[in-house]
Amino acid sequence: MKLSSSGKIEWNKELREREEEAARQLTDVISSFVPVAGIKDSWIWEAAKDGRYSIKSAYEVIKNQRSDRGALRLDLETLASIWDTPTPQKAIVTGWRLLRNRLPTCDNLRKRKINLGEEDLRCCLCQDHEEDANHLFISCPKTQELWDEIQRWTGISTARPSAAAAHWLSFSECGQNKKGRKLLNAIWLSCCWLLWKRRNEIRFEGKTWEVYNLLVEIKVRG
Ligand SMILES: [Zn+2]
Repeated sequence: MKLSSSGKIEWNKELREREEEAARQLTDVISSFVPVAGIKDSWIWEAAKDGRYSIKSAYEVIKNQRSDRGALRLDLETLASIWDTPTPQKAIVTGWRLLRNRLPTCDNLRKRKINLGEEDLRCCLCQDHEEDANHLFISCPKTQELWDEIQRWTGISTARPSAAAAHWLSFSECGQNKKGRKLLNAIWLSCCWLLWKRRNEIRFEGKTWEVYNLLVEIKVRG
């Protein structure tokens, strides 16, 4: 394995099917780390607030894993179905990271001890709420405009849970059959992929939020 000049992982040989899943998980884990120039690498134990390992915190992690194991497995199994969606790979990867809360949203960066100013923490769409995945993708008033349009376009009417995972499930369950559910899955993933892309363009390139432009892009590229 090596890193290309653009920071992309390249494999020395073609991956076998079972290796692909492991490679995805690896990408998933390392993609949420953002290198910061001038700061020395160090180990952080995520289970403790101060980042330091202790036997007590390790015990808590193991205890919680035990009680969550059933739910976690079911979750991962349900989640794994997104790899089978007829949509661009980038949309699936973004969706996978979103549903596991691994996207570098402001709250996640802060958890990783990346210093962000008060202003930078705010959602760049509405400027009125701290940015986290559920707000950005689902409950932000600007994003709600997009979901309104998407519902109008697809003709489905669904409850709008405020958590991304619940929203995804209730959206794709509106499909009449397996094919319909796959199609809605594809639309949902494309929406989130292009929404994330637009969020980055607004945040880093100074673009503005135009719900109709985004809708057209979803219809064309998704
Ligand atoms: Zn917002």
